Amino acid sequence: MKKTLGRLALSLLPLPLLAAAPVSTAEKMRDEALAGDKVAWDIVEDLTTEVGPRLAGTEAEERARQWAVKRLKALGFHNVHIEDATMATWVRGAETAEIVSPFPQRIVVAALGGSGATPPQGVTAQVVGFDSIDALRAAPAEAVKGRIVFVSHAMQPNQDGSGYGYYGAVRRSAPAVGAQKGAVAVIIRSLGTDYHRNPHTGLTNWGAVTPIAAGALPIPDAENLERMLKRSHNVTMHLILTPRFVGNTATGNVIAEVPGTDPSAGTILVGGHLDSWDLGTGAIDDASGVAIVTAAARRVMEAGRPRRTVRIIWFGDEETGGAGSRAYFAAHRQENVVFVAESDFGADRVWRFVPGFAEANKPLADRIAEALFPLGINRAAGEVEAGADLGAWVQAGSAGADLGQDGTRYFDYHHTPDDTLDKVDPAQLRQNVAAWTAMLSLVANAPESIAKLPPRPARRQ
Ligand SMILES: [Zn+2]
Repeated sequence: MKKTLGRLALSLLPLPLLAAAPVSTAEKMRDEALAGDKVAWDIVEDLTTEVGPRLAGTEAEERARQWAVKRLKALGFHNVHIEDATMATWVRGAETAEIVSPFPQRIVVAALGGSGATPPQGVTAQVVGFDSIDALRAAPAEAVKGRIVFVSHAMQPNQDGSGYGYYGAVRRSAPAVGAQKGAVAVIIRSLGTDYHRNPHTGLTNWGAVTPIAAGALPIPDAENLERMLKRSHNVTMHLILTPRFVGNTATGNVIAEVPGTDPSAGTILVGGHLDSWDLGTGAIDDASGVAIVTAAARRVMEAGRPRRTVRIIWFGDEETGGAGSRAYFAAHRQENVVFVAESDFGADRVWRFVPGFAEANKPLADRIAEALFPLGINRAAGEVEAGADLGAWVQAGSAGADLGQDGTRYFDYHHTPDDTLDKVDPAQLRQNVAAWTAMLSLVANAPESIAKLPPRPARRQ
């Protein structure tokens, strides 16, 4: 009888159609970020509008540091300051390319970072083409000497961006290989996946080799040149590239903190880079990255003082050599940094979580994974990289994690004049902030200790 009455009474209650499980603080913060974060968008919009391009070591990067200090203070962070570093600074000069014969026409070119220069009046030479860096490596020096070398590749878009690592040797190494074989200049098919008429710049490495002029062609221009090389054995190009090194100048990292309550629990480092290439306004690379980690850290701060200090670092000179991250690691390596994570792969949605914790911290990794599932983020195995600026810390044994962003369209804009605010999707940016907020909140407040891992050698690119 009682049972029936009980059932009846229950059935009369105004039950919600969908009963909810209890929601943790991290989940609540995640959902609020997803629904309405404005902090990240405002950083990207204001930095790209008020500063714009900010090539490392230049006056523009210095202005960006001053801008960053003002913004981070206005957001209420503690201990906002700049830590200086110095770097050898490179700046772009004149750049033109023209096919002289047999099909005369102008083509588009941009110097690669670190490129040497042609004489001011340029060089005119026969073009010799290679479909890969391996083909260039295999070529005898006499096929290259005195010529302009053109190197192509077959990079395709993919979700994890791994094509950039695989084909990246064309940009990073082909100019030095060409120089060693006596080329007068090296031009490459841009490391990109778009058919805009935009060259993709980026750093090239010389090692001990004396730099020569090195540039990138937009993909439509590279394919045009490939067609010419199939039609003629004597394609001649006139190339002017006059970038130069201006000596040592200042760069620096901008730092801000959310102070923790328990210094013995260790410090968390999150970051991205403040500098950008000079062709665009650096919206996806990497205003978005610094904006995402900063917006998430601010949500952690607003929720009440966390157990661990969260330190935000907007690194200088990621793009042209890494002077900022080297200086930071050298100055702070003795500190008890228990966790690091970096955002430097654009502004599109996070699709995978790669945890890099010691076995003892599997429960913490599980809690983060559970908080990320509702954002459409799956947990993946793999070695955490933590990016160019914080990778040294995971190599030294700090725990870390990668929140992998969708890279399918990243290399349509990467390092081009097209890296501008309109490429940032506000909804996907908020999804990033939501994921970072959940992860940071759980790590910063974890009651257990966060263990170190065995040091590991640096990954080879
Ligand atoms: Zn970047």
